[in-house]
Amino acid sequence: MRKAIKQRRVLLFLLVVTVPCALVIGLGLRTLGQERELAEKRLSDVRARLAGDIAAALAQELAEAAGYDAESITLVTVDGEVQPPWPPLHDSTPGERFRSPIRSGEDAEFAGADPTAALADYRRAAMAAETPFEVASALLAVARAQAKLAQRRDAINSYSELLAYPAVIADQHGIPFALYAAVRLGDLEATSDAVLARLGQDDLAESWLRPAAAYMLRSAVATLPTGDTADALQRHVDRRVDLIEVVFALRSPRQAPAGVRMSAGVSVGDEPQWRLDAGEHWLVATLTAADKPEVVIVPAAAVFARVERSEGLAGTPLGGFRIGARGAQEEPLGPRFPDLAVRFEHADNLVTSDLRPQRIFYLVALLAVVALTLFGALLLWRDVRRDVQMAEMRSQFVSSVSHELRTPLTSIRMFAETMRHRAAADEGQTDDFLDIIIGESERLTRLLDNVLNFSKIERDSKIYHPDAMQLEEVVESACRSLAHSLEQHGFELEVEVEEGLPRVHADRDAIEQAVLNLLTNAVKYANGDRRIELRLRRDGRFGAIEVTDHGIGIRPEDHEQIFEPFFRAKHPGHDHVQGAGLGLALVRHIADAHAGAVTVVSSPGEGSTFCLKIPLETDSP
Ligand code: ADP
Repeated sequence: MRKAIKQRRVLLFLLVVTVPCALVIGLGLRTLGQERELAEKRLSDVRARLAGDIAAALAQELAEAAGYDAESITLVTVDGEVQPPWPPLHDSTPGERFRSPIRSGEDAEFAGADPTAALADYRRAAMAAETPFEVASALLAVARAQAKLAQRRDAINSYSELLAYPAVIADQHGIPFALYAAVRLGDLEATSDAVLARLGQDDLAESWLRPAAAYMLRSAVATLPTGDTADALQRHVDRRVDLIEVVFALRSPRQAPAGVRMSAGVSVGDEPQWRLDAGEHWLVATLTAADKPEVVIVPAAAVFARVERSEGLAGTPLGGFRIGARGAQEEPLGPRFPDLAVRFEHADNLVTSDLRPQRIFYLVALLAVVALTLFGALLLWRDVRRDVQMAEMRSQFVSSVSHELRTPLTSIRMFAETMRHRAAADEGQTDDFLDIIIGESERLTRLLDNVLNFSKIERDSKIYHPDAMQLEEVVESACRSLAHSLEQHGFELEVEVEEGLPRVHADRDAIEQAVLNLLTNAVKYANGDRRIELRLRRDGRFGAIEVTDHGIGIRPEDHEQIFEPFFRAKHPGHDHVQGAGLGLALVRHIADAHAGAVTVVSSPGEGSTFCLKIPLETDSP
């Protein structure tokens, strides 16, 4: 039966704790998951909306930039083909008067390896030069021969002179002579601020150079010693080269340098599509002006910066933003800008800030439910345990009471029968037998009194009838009723009564029952030493009745529990001592009902002293 109860307890525990907790946790997690999904959905809506606004602002900005931005470039298209913005090649075939000394100079310089003769020829050519192109080519050749002749200073002078030539004076490939001069000065390690200043002038750095010239400009700038101005110029020139490559790619996508595959965007509805070049410097679109399509190239960074700083878009819920080439974790800017995306500063804050209160709420609710469930389970556990204990105690009680009843009944019957069979026996023996029968029936009465009183207490119907009385009288009466049986069992009862104690206001029968219970316990747990002391004395404002035995004693850990109903301490070797576990419970109830107390001093093997205290009526004796 105990096993079945245990299994039931475990099952109950599982049902009451685990199932609701699991359900609550599961539900909580599910709801949180849904909340997160919702928050993410909200976030992506916000991102998409903002990206739409940003794209609109960007389109507007670009449309304006295409019109006024100094850096934006408009390319004319003819039959759908982008026309090159750089100057065409000039036919600069020199005259025969100039060509012949140049030719003989080149023969002497390259075939004859005679720079001195070559220099003389080139000087002649310079004299014969008529056009700026001829003057410049002769000067370039002179400088070159001077360099070969190790006339470094002369060479530097010649190149420096050539450096000042305007960019339009260019060779048959469209490369300005000034650029040749700059590169050679670099070779001679004679670059100076003058070279830097020259390369930064508008005719080189700002105008359209032919692609070959642009590359040469870039290598000339690269030879400059590093410094702030040189670095800035380098970046500028890089961008120009990049721009030229963009145009180059637009003109003939197949021949474009590697990595520069692009075409001007097509239209998306009425809106132009803007493409970003591979260098991420330029945005390119085909716009239609006066029914003629034009390809427009706009510097990207400047336009992005204007949109990023624009008033209308400041203070988005996701903080600031940056527009750039499209990456994985960014919000695309839509079909008008297929290469662009926007990255928000606080992209995830919204989700976390959205979820934080919910999380806290669910956590608190979860903890509360779990705590309540555990608390409920604990109560249930205690209830069940108490039920089980009560059931055990009751069954023990029934068997103990039956045993206790049987013993005196058996003796009564035995002595009564003996008396009948020995009717003629001597008078003295008959008296003894009658004493035993009376003693046993008194014991029976005490036991039944205990049971009856306890059941009244249980039902809350126990009523005490207090009256003024002397404790001394009760002590005497208790001694009297036990005297005979004590004597019979060979006990020595030593009684010590303090004289002149004040009266008490108490239920005489109840107090006597309590004293009798203490005395009978002293007898029951005596263990061979048959001395019992009964003392009545004053203890402050109490009258204290002390019962001391020298018996088996009680373990300290049982001192509190022995006053509980049905509790019986374990006394190894003394299991045969019978009892219902009610005596001390009644003593305590009686003490409490009289505003008194009962205490015990005891240790195993050293006997016990129980002290019942009842308040005295007045403080003065
Ligand atoms: P019982 O009918 O078992 O004696 P009581 O309520 O009178 O019930 O006592 C409760 C328990 O206290 C006893 O079972 C016993 O273990 C312990 N006890 C009471 N009085 C004494 C004593 N004088 N010496 C040793 N143990 C005692």
